[in-house]
Amino acid sequence: MKFETRAIHKGNHITDNTGSVVQPITLSTTFEHGNEAGLLYTRAGNPNRLALEELIASLEQGVDAAAFSSGNAAGTAVYQALEPGSHIIAPDDMYHGLHNSMTILFKGIHEVSFVDMSNLEAVKAAIRPNTRLFWVETPSNPLLKITDIRKVAEIAHGHGAILACDNTFATPVFQNPLLLGADIVMHSSTKYFGGHSDLLGGALVTKEKNDFWTKIRTIQRVGGAVPSPTDCYWLGRSIKSLAYRMKGHAEHAMVLADYFLSHPKVERVYYPGLKNHPGHEIAASQMSGFGGVVSIQVKGGAAAADKLISELHLFANATSLGGIESLIERRAAVEGPDTLTPPNLIRVSVGLEHTEDLLTDLDQAFSKI
Ligand SMILES: *Cc1c(COP(=O)(O)O)cnc(C)c1O
Repeated sequence: MKFETRAIHKGNHITDNTGSVVQPITLSTTFEHGNEAGLLYTRAGNPNRLALEELIASLEQGVDAAAFSSGNAAGTAVYQALEPGSHIIAPDDMYHGLHNSMTILFKGIHEVSFVDMSNLEAVKAAIRPNTRLFWVETPSNPLLKITDIRKVAEIAHGHGAILACDNTFATPVFQNPLLLGADIVMHSSTKYFGGHSDLLGGALVTKEKNDFWTKIRTIQRVGGAVPSPTDCYWLGRSIKSLAYRMKGHAEHAMVLADYFLSHPKVERVYYPGLKNHPGHEIAASQMSGFGGVVSIQVKGGAAAADKLISELHLFANATSLGGIESLIERRAAVEGPDTLTPPNLIRVSVGLEHTEDLLTDLDQAFSKI
């Protein structure tokens, strides 16, 4: 079945005799011993979580998925599953929350090298005898850098290491890292999967059910950072429309990227769909669409960027991305003093409002800076 069809039908199991079209929410935290479904206790497994995991595994073309209570919990589970003393190679501009997970939670436990993953020579040079994990995020947040998943997979496997890919920005609608050589895919379900800025969640998907995956499952079950049945239900519900939302987000992002490109008050535009983006060709070879996030550097520094944001009405000045409503944010203000993000960089999560309304709003705000 095609993606759109799987998104609507996978994992939707009706086991009662009501004729429901949609699988109901099972709120019970505990299940009678000896039940046919083999359920014990909701932290270990729940019908709505199992349904969501089956759905996400199918969309990423993996063999199994594990749902977590946030994207950070999902990423952290991967680092926790490594043997202590492992070395991780990660992007120098990776999502700051997971950067914090590596540097704060695993300080003294793992070693990490942060490198420009779009520079394969730098990636190779960072390898150590104890390198166990290559972490890739493409497109990256917020610089939209593109990493060649196939090439990094070759490097990782040549060294006997695992490649994990944060696929939050691309979503499986546009990119399937497992088919490009990755071993694990990670998602912040809070973003496009949820799609309406009202749910927190995360997921991991695996290419193989191996020992590493068994450890991840143990961390999920014993660590207990699992989503509630209700959250799983709403996530599954949102994912049904994921393909169509992503097509809309990408189409609108391209319109805004072109607008920014020709705007005299914009210094630089970052969108992998633009021909002048340094990663455009690699993006086109591994993605079928370029996503819904555009970053720009505004002329006039951080003050001009802040002014622009404050003059906008339709774009909420808020963190996060992937919702149907447009969001805008000056990233350096959120990421803190250590960030590599330029101070005048604004990240736009382009929503599904009509692009004419978005452009009208941008025009009036730009006229005031
Ligand atoms: C938001 C985000 C995360 C973290 O997910 P949470 O659900 O906020 O914990 C990880 N990676 C990327 C790329 C993100 O945008």
